[in-house]
Amino acid sequence: AEFTVLCCGGGNAAQVATGLFAVRYKTIAVSFFADEAAKWKDALGDAEFELTTPGGGVMKSKPKDITNDPSVAKDADLILLVVPSFAHGEYFEKFAPYMKPGTIVATMPARSGGDILFASKLGDKAKDMIFCGFETLPWACRFTEWGKKATILGTKNNILAAVTPVSATKKALAKLQGLLGVNPQVLESPNNLGISLRNPGMIVHPGVMYGRWSPESWDGNPKDEAPLFYQGVDDFTETVLTGMTDEVQLLCRKMEEVAQGLDMKDACTLKQWYLDCYDGQMKDTSSLKACMNTNAAYDGLKHPCKEVDGKFMPDLKYRYLAEDIPTGLCFAKGLAEIVGLETPTIDKVMKWGQECIGLEIMVDGKMTGKDLAKTRAPQGMGITTLEAFLTASKIEAKT
Ligand code: NAD
Repeated sequence: AEFTVLCCGGGNAAQVATGLFAVRYKTIAVSFFADEAAKWKDALGDAEFELTTPGGGVMKSKPKDITNDPSVAKDADLILLVVPSFAHGEYFEKFAPYMKPGTIVATMPARSGGDILFASKLGDKAKDMIFCGFETLPWACRFTEWGKKATILGTKNNILAAVTPVSATKKALAKLQGLLGVNPQVLESPNNLGISLRNPGMIVHPGVMYGRWSPESWDGNPKDEAPLFYQGVDDFTETVLTGMTDEVQLLCRKMEEVAQGLDMKDACTLKQWYLDCYDGQMKDTSSLKACMNTNAAYDGLKHPCKEVDGKFMPDLKYRYLAEDIPTGLCFAKGLAEIVGLETPTIDKVMKWGQECIGLEIMVDGKMTGKDLAKTRAPQGMGITTLEAFLTASKIEAKT
C-alpha cells in the first residue's frame, strides 16, 4: 500500500505541514477540534493548497482528505501531530484503537513527557509503536488565507528528535527526514527524557511572565504599552530564569546518577540553548539576559496583553502559561518531587502561574492538586515512584 501520512491539527503549523507533505505523499489532514476539519474541507473545496516557501516559490498540493474520523489511522504509516501540546492526548486516545503495529507517531513540538503520555494512552499497544518527540517546530509559519494558503517565513537548519524505543531511531528518523525534505536536518537526540528537560519554553515562557507580572515585580496597574517579551528581560527576570534552568540541571544530574548510561547532553541550560539555536543572531552573548535582549529573531515581540481603555493589561491565560506550565514545567517539577529534589524557584513560578490559569496542581508545595491529571506531571499520569518513572520512560535503572 502507498505510504500514508496523517497530519494532525488545523492551525498555522498543521496547514503548512499538510501542504508540504501532500506534495510527495498520500496525506490525510485530521482535526478533532470542534468542526475545524469540515470547515477546512469546505474552505479548500476543489482547489489545491498553496504553500509559499522562504525563497518565494509556491508549492501546490492536495491532501487526500480532511477529516475528523479517527479510523483513518488504520492505514497510517506515520502520524504527525502539529498542534499545541495540550491537544496531544486526545489524538493518541482516539487513534489508539485503530493503529497498526509499527506506526510512527511524532509530535512537533513534543514539549515534555510526550513519550510517557503516549504510553499511558496506548496501554498495551504502545510496545508495538514508535514514538518520536521533536524539540521544536522546524518552521516559523502563518496561514495567509485560512485553509487555502500559507507561508513558511523561515526554516531552522536543524532540529533534535528522540525516538522511543531507541532501537527504532534510525528507521523512524529516516522516514521523518524524507517527509520534511532537505531542511531542517533532523538530528538524533539520545532519549526523550533529554527532549523533555531541554524544553526551553517551560523556562522562558512562565519565567518571563512571572518576572514581569507577579506581585514581586508588578503593582497591578495597566501599562502604557505592552512590554517587550524577550528583549525586555530585566535583571530580576534573569534571576528567575537562571534559578529555574539551574534547578532543571540539578534534576538532570540526579537522573544520570540513578539511571544506567543515561545521556542528558541535550537537556542543556537555557543560555546554552540560546548559543546553540541563535548563533550569530545575538549581538551580546555574555549573559542569559544579553542573549535574550540582543537576539534579532525577537525584534518587536511583546508580552501578550489585552487593551483596556487605551492601556495594556497582561493576558495571564495566554499559552505561555496555559500550555507551558501543564505540559512543560509540571513534568520537571513532578519528576523533581519523585527524586526528592527541592526546586524553590520553579515552585514559586508554579504557585503563581497555576492561579493565573485557574488550575490546582501544587498544594503546599506538593504535586497533589485536583487538576494534576490535566498536566504532564508524572503523578498526573499515575507515576509516583522512580522505578515506575524509569519503566515508563524505558530507561534502565543503575544496579
Ligand atoms: P495554532 O494556534 O495555529 O494552533 C491552533 C490549532 O490547535 C487549532 O486550529 C486546533 O487544531 C488546535 N486546537 C486549539 N485549541 C484546541 C483545543 N481546545 N482542543 C483541541 N485542539 C485545539 O498554533 P500553531 O502556530 O499551529 O503552532 C502549533 C505548535 O507549534 C504550538 O505548540 C506552537 O507553540 C508551536 N510553534 C509554532 C510556530 C509557528 O511559527 N506557528 C513556531 C514555533 C513553535
